[in-house]
Amino acid sequence: MDYLKEKKFIELHVLSNSFFKNQNIKKLKDNSSIIDYNFRCPLCGDSKIDPNKKRAHFFWKNRTKKGFKFHCFNCGKSMDLKSALSLIKDTFKIDLLSLYDSFVQKQLKLINDTHVDFRSKEDETDDNLDKVKIYLHNKNMRHTKLQEVPNVFQYVKDRMIPEIYWNTKVFAWKGTIYDFIKLNPNLKTENKLQYLNTEYMVLPSYGIIDNELMVVGYNFRFLDSRYEPKYIKVDLDITMNVPKFFTNQFDLDIESPYILILEGEVDSLMFKEYPTFAIKNAKLQKINEIKELDKYIKIYVWDNEYFTNPQIKAFMKQLKYEDYAVLWHIDSNNIFKDPNKMITEKYVDNMDSYIKDKIVNGLRRKLLLTKI
Ligand SMILES: [Zn+2]
Repeated sequence: MDYLKEKKFIELHVLSNSFFKNQNIKKLKDNSSIIDYNFRCPLCGDSKIDPNKKRAHFFWKNRTKKGFKFHCFNCGKSMDLKSALSLIKDTFKIDLLSLYDSFVQKQLKLINDTHVDFRSKEDETDDNLDKVKIYLHNKNMRHTKLQEVPNVFQYVKDRMIPEIYWNTKVFAWKGTIYDFIKLNPNLKTENKLQYLNTEYMVLPSYGIIDNELMVVGYNFRFLDSRYEPKYIKVDLDITMNVPKFFTNQFDLDIESPYILILEGEVDSLMFKEYPTFAIKNAKLQKINEIKELDKYIKIYVWDNEYFTNPQIKAFMKQLKYEDYAVLWHIDSNNIFKDPNKMITEKYVDNMDSYIKDKIVNGLRRKLLLTKI
């Protein structure tokens, strides 16, 4: 491949790759006679004395008129870009080689395209889209069966999570997260607790890509309350700028005119009749970034205690007149914090029907909220 295409490949796929990021890869030079990316050599481990030394390069020189070369001034290894990616794949199981190959294929199809515009926003999105698709095509997640991890299974049953969500929306894993990532490649986590051998509840996180609902990562949840934080995030090993959320839906073809917007992932699985979308940590504004949801009537279901939180109260007041919210305090006996508590303390046995007369909008919502 010619050097401009390879440059594009490096800019899009290599610089953002966590393996190369760990090697501290940086662009050193970029002009008409030399383009040079510099990083610590993974093949020899680079200088043992100075951890800041970076002696490996992907570089191109004008006089060669050919593609990029790899060269390390520590171990002396020298080869073309593709061979270096191949060696890295064999040694470290970091597969940028197949991305390179599909990139070449794609470039060959664009043979008439003489316009080369590096890193235009559109380009980047397109390319990430391709990357995501490559990853997601082998997306059959390998996990432990929910029923085989008794604590997780009990947790799920205690919350009356319907069977249709077992092993489709809520999963289990027994072992280390590190082992999970080895079985399910193209994922990464920076969390050191990934080596902890225990039982986890696993919830996918979703993004909308090209009008499709896609799994873009996983949240591992410790059931053992000794561990903090409660969740460990595992993401796809690529850069992506899509809002992440959780949902009880299996695709975006939602029949209901309503959707529930909740705070907790597990809480959102306590509903079966309503489509649910959950955004963690009360990041309310995030939901507005998901444009695909604009065509639905949103019903905000926030934790009971939050209605006394000034921020949430202010948010609720800002809702559009026609937006709905579930106001728990309509039920004056309800002292429970959230759907999780209502179900596990057996105050409620069916969330779908319990919320029905607590959904309010317009003037009624305003009046009821000002009373808090
Ligand atoms: Zn080296």
